[in-house]
Amino acid sequence: MPELPEVEVVRRALQHGVGSFLVRHVEVLLERTVAFPAGDGAAFAAALTGVQLTCWHRRGKYLLSQLSRQGQLAAGQLGVHLRMTGRFRWLNTDEFPVCPHTRVRFLGDGKELRFVDTRSFGRMWWVPPDTAASHVITGLQRLGPEPFAPSFDGPYLEKRLRGSRRPIKTALLDQSVVAGIGNIYADEGLFLAGIPPHVPSGSLSQGQLHRLCRRLVQVLVRSVQQGGTSFRDFHDLQGVNGNYGQEAWVYGRPGAPCRRCGAPIQRRMLSGRSSHWCPHCQQGQP
Ligand SMILES: [Zn+2]
Repeated sequence: MPELPEVEVVRRALQHGVGSFLVRHVEVLLERTVAFPAGDGAAFAAALTGVQLTCWHRRGKYLLSQLSRQGQLAAGQLGVHLRMTGRFRWLNTDEFPVCPHTRVRFLGDGKELRFVDTRSFGRMWWVPPDTAASHVITGLQRLGPEPFAPSFDGPYLEKRLRGSRRPIKTALLDQSVVAGIGNIYADEGLFLAGIPPHVPSGSLSQGQLHRLCRRLVQVLVRSVQQGGTSFRDFHDLQGVNGNYGQEAWVYGRPGAPCRRCGAPIQRRMLSGRSSHWCPHCQQGQP
């Protein structure tokens, strides 16, 4: 699943690569991609026809575009969650035939923004004008702070995780603790912070948690710079894979030597997700 860096790479491509795009026509090829108006492709298409997609924002793994109509910011917003395999392609009209996994097409003058989704878990919402995005996209309501927010620090995590016996890795995947972190960057951040993934989150000191916050930010920034990950099905708007996977510390490297100490990277299932760590470098250093 694309995590924060991949969604941020897509956001930047939409913001800078696509820019203000006037949508002349919308085709919904799979009704259930439209989460609001629920399953109503025709209503969604009608709301988005004639609008300009402007200003793309990201919150956690959600993308939000401000919609304007004839220069007025009164056409609501478009929300998108890529989930497992959703991806946008920015194409010249009729450049590529429509593949069977095409879910929504935004057609403009000579250009097309196409949403392709092999596994069909990706969702789109039209947020009507004068409506809070979180009212329609309810997943936004329970999101914790962004990792880049100043409020995401050691004292915050210590308070949030106090007394918890949940493994720290599991806590990091909880979007209400911190928004946008998934399996890859939780493993990478824990490696850089020297914390084993299975340690109970309530047992970590404020100093350790503060270090974890800083290291998570460091690895997220690095991955955005690298264009996101090469793991899984992630591609940017040009269909290009990111580079982060080639330099991952532990994720996706079970049995391979640790890049720091040479010990074999371990892998174990934790709350249903595979966790990777170095038993030597991650001993919970104070
Ligand atoms: Zn190591």
